[in-house]
Amino acid sequence: MKLVVVSNRVARANTNEPMTGGLAAALLPVVENSGAIWVGSSGRVRDGFQKEPFAEIEALGAGALATLDLPAAHYGGYYEGFANSALWPVLHSRSDLIRVAEGDYPSYREVNAFMARALLRFNKQDAAFWVQDYHFLALGAELRELGVTSPVGFFLHTPWPAHGVIEGVPQHRELVEAMLAYDLIGFQTEGDRDNFLGYVRANLELSVDDDVVVSQYGRTRARVFPIGIDAEKFAKAAAKAVTHPDVSRLRRSLNGERLAIGVDRLDYSKGLVNRIRAFDRMWSTNPHLARTVSLLQIATPSRGGIEAYGALQNEVARLVGDVNGRHGEADWTPIRYLNKGYGQAVLAGLYRTAQVGVVTPLHDGMNLVAKEYVAAQNPADPGVLVLSKFAGAAHELDAALIVNPHDIDGMARTVATALSMPLAERRMRYEAMMHRLRRHSIQRWFADFQEALGESQAEKVETSPLATEPPTLWPIRSVHAAARFH
Ligand code: UDP
Repeated sequence: MKLVVVSNRVARANTNEPMTGGLAAALLPVVENSGAIWVGSSGRVRDGFQKEPFAEIEALGAGALATLDLPAAHYGGYYEGFANSALWPVLHSRSDLIRVAEGDYPSYREVNAFMARALLRFNKQDAAFWVQDYHFLALGAELRELGVTSPVGFFLHTPWPAHGVIEGVPQHRELVEAMLAYDLIGFQTEGDRDNFLGYVRANLELSVDDDVVVSQYGRTRARVFPIGIDAEKFAKAAAKAVTHPDVSRLRRSLNGERLAIGVDRLDYSKGLVNRIRAFDRMWSTNPHLARTVSLLQIATPSRGGIEAYGALQNEVARLVGDVNGRHGEADWTPIRYLNKGYGQAVLAGLYRTAQVGVVTPLHDGMNLVAKEYVAAQNPADPGVLVLSKFAGAAHELDAALIVNPHDIDGMARTVATALSMPLAERRMRYEAMMHRLRRHSIQRWFADFQEALGESQAEKVETSPLATEPPTLWPIRSVHAAARFH
């Protein structure tokens, strides 16, 4: 199987550059090792569809990276519009933040169709396509429309919300129907998968048998594949990173003070406001922790062109200023707040320096920072992970201190507990979590999905109502289109 991985963003092999999010961070090492082709946006836009849309195809370890410019006329409506002002909020159960502008959905579909046309270049005999995330919910349907019969799978990195919530997006039905063109849909947790199947049952009058939906496209299997990390690699990077100048300077600046660390994109799903309030509460109710414990909060700017993100940035900056103003001293800053990104080589060392990792999203598909924090710890003297029950990672990392990110007092108490946890308990929790991380590695995630995609396609060919008839869904004109782009 020649795997073609498709995502909006891609990453390049440079650990000194910050990753643009969990998806890019996760896919980079597996593409490098598997020999897959990774297709995504170049980060630039241009007018019109080029006959050869891939400006560059470069080697990426054993694999390859092919990037293309997305259509200028539709990019805003697709990315900042439908993907990040309608789908992202609804998938994170923030329907109050949905902003749907006329033209955003058509632009989203245009970009999905554009990507499908470009992908025909890679639609060789044993090709299989694996589409990533909410930017491309309809890409499978567009590929089928163009006559592609290769296996096509999809993985959703975000949550899928509870019953009814997705209906906040006006085109919900059309989108879910389009998703059923995928042979296999992967989710981070059972809850996400069950919510999706619940929607299909309630809204689409289709038969759902266990985890299989039968639609006009044939069978679609919905399964759970929790995404992992390369824990060993991260642990080695962390051990090495403590000598990095940025990390050494941080260590020297601490002067015996203990550190909690938060690392997040500046996004409303990450629970930054409640986290800062919890530290505020902790210093108010435990005066002995003032001066002796500080919070290093890295809040990497994200999606700055969207109103809700600008508002959040202002709110967090104001709150940090308020807390530092009230609790700080001339020689002590309670919250070290940074609006920038770090490469993972440094990040690993920052995680290892902190006695507590605070990962308290209101909603998160998985949250790789939680896993990275654990993997980066010194096994002889590990720090403690404080983890939101609403992060996908909480299903696996149940040896963390699990918190409700809406409960400010509870979080304040839990961080204080983490700071006083005896070494034996810290080691026990660390080892239990490392055991999980090693077993559910990113390599295994990748291999499991690929294997299931092969199986789903085999089942689909056997049972598809289209298998014995001419493919009426896949018009002849599209086959000609396919030939043109080979
Ligand atoms: N990250 C990074 N530099 C930074 C902040 C984050 O490289 O300054 C990486 C981090 O190591 C992790 C990813 O970005 O791999 C964030 O993934 P996560 O699943 O936690 O959240 P997402 O941003 O995808 O919502």
